[in-house]
Amino acid sequence: MTKFYEVRKRDGAARIGQLQLSEVTQTPLMLTVEHAEELKELIAADSNFNDLVSDETWNAPRGAVLLPEVHPLYTKNEAHRSADFFVLAFASNMLNSPRDFVHRVINARNTIPPDVALWVPAIATAENAALLFYLGVDIIDNLNAVIKGYQGIYQMEEGELSLSELEDLPCNCSVCSSMSIDELREKEDRAQLIAKHNGLLLAKEVKKVTARIRAGNLREYVEMRARASTFLTAVLRIMDFKEEKYFELRTPVARKQSMNANTMESLKRIEVKRFANRVIERYEPPVRQILLLLPCSARKPYSKSQSHKKFIDAIGAYRGCIHELILTSPLGVVPRELEVVYPAAFYDIPVTGYWDLEEREWVSSCLRAYLKRNSVNYELIVAHFSGAYKDICSSVADDLGIEIRYTCEEDENATSRKALDRLRAEIAALGSESQLGFEQKASVIRAISDYQFGIGAGRELVTQREGERIKIRGKFPLYKLSVDGEVIARIVPEYGSLALSITGAHRISNMLASYTVEIGDFVPKGSVLAPGVVNANEQIRVNDEVIFCGAKAFGVGRAKMSGWEMVESRRGAAVQVRAVEGTK
Ligand SMILES: [Zn+2]
Repeated sequence: MTKFYEVRKRDGAARIGQLQLSEVTQTPLMLTVEHAEELKELIAADSNFNDLVSDETWNAPRGAVLLPEVHPLYTKNEAHRSADFFVLAFASNMLNSPRDFVHRVINARNTIPPDVALWVPAIATAENAALLFYLGVDIIDNLNAVIKGYQGIYQMEEGELSLSELEDLPCNCSVCSSMSIDELREKEDRAQLIAKHNGLLLAKEVKKVTARIRAGNLREYVEMRARASTFLTAVLRIMDFKEEKYFELRTPVARKQSMNANTMESLKRIEVKRFANRVIERYEPPVRQILLLLPCSARKPYSKSQSHKKFIDAIGAYRGCIHELILTSPLGVVPRELEVVYPAAFYDIPVTGYWDLEEREWVSSCLRAYLKRNSVNYELIVAHFSGAYKDICSSVADDLGIEIRYTCEEDENATSRKALDRLRAEIAALGSESQLGFEQKASVIRAISDYQFGIGAGRELVTQREGERIKIRGKFPLYKLSVDGEVIARIVPEYGSLALSITGAHRISNMLASYTVEIGDFVPKGSVLAPGVVNANEQIRVNDEVIFCGAKAFGVGRAKMSGWEMVESRRGAAVQVRAVEGTK
């Protein structure tokens, strides 16, 4: 029987997969000694690392485990055969330095195909397991837990102590809850008992990580876990600083879950950097007389918050001549038109009124980049800021030599009656009364479309062509764009993205080259599977809106893996089909 591995769900580089041993097993997986016998039977390849790189090896029949020559179960037999999982040799070297910890895994991952599971043997602890899986490891084992147990070392989620150093057993597992520490010390089989506790703790951690991957918020858990150790904090920082590309290739463009930015490391998240880049590279502000800078709100999208309702009310009659831009950490600047996209409508931060230096520096750099590019397009810039917002804004304005009018007094609450009256008066003196109507909704769909597909896609989608009737219906943010009564695109607030119909996809297909998946000679139902993908653009990320086309079909759907992964994988769903039509 062919054994195999298939990735079912991704959260960045971390995956949930199915590995077929004697029965179907889920990864992240902790192998135990009991698995060893079974693995012996699976071993069918030797593992000269160079052989792994050749296509010939990977196109061989699948189903084998690949072990390094140093592994005790390693056997030299038969010809080379392909593998469903790869074992990282000399994994203990990873513990030499945080740099090695990161690079050994990433180098292995970059060498083996994405649909091969990666086993990092003998080093996993409850403390480091989350970071291992976050890096892209699929399989660990309880070897370290057992060895440490026999050395009398009691492991905890935040480190380890020898049994003699402990005063109590800070755990509720079946071992620790059945006896006191004094009883444990007296036991003849205490080595096995500590080993059992260590193993149970590690198994629990694997379950917690799996739940996090499923929920799409492993990153937040990793930021928390890394805190317990300077080594692991260094690991996380090296990942963020040195391995941006590796994680960028694997990070979804949208999620259904909120993103909690609780630490300084959150500023370095791919989602944050990607958003900031796209506001500069994929966003064209609408032509308006006044730029109004506003503070962010805890509630998202901002315009649903009490504070923003008050701001909007204050500028009401003049809104048509105003472009609104929200200053926020960690995203930098969020144009009003993009407030529903991921992660703008999905992030949460601890609000204290205090911004530390790194945060100020990052947000300032985003505002500076925006103003540098766009400030000439406005006649006036007004900022309804006080406190740290005002500090950031005025230092950026000074840098660039731009004049900004402020409508809050020092330390004044931006939603106070006085501040709002001042904002209203300032805008009334500077602007002309104008309402937006259709243009307000159109600017949102245009901006989201550009944000997703690149500049120009929005104009192509929303601009009325001769003989057409374009309408946008629905209450914010559930806008639906229709042409002659047929809905061609709609905002999906669950992902903060725009979904196209077949007609909508045809309308802008010339703008979608970067989001096209070429498929084989078939009409897909439900999903396009990876083996059916002939080619896919490398820009595609998980949850991107994509079109697919082949000799027999054209359709739209949501990417379930990155474009490069669609090309390199031989298993798994590549695109979830929303609509498909046959072509001749
Ligand atoms: Zn325990």
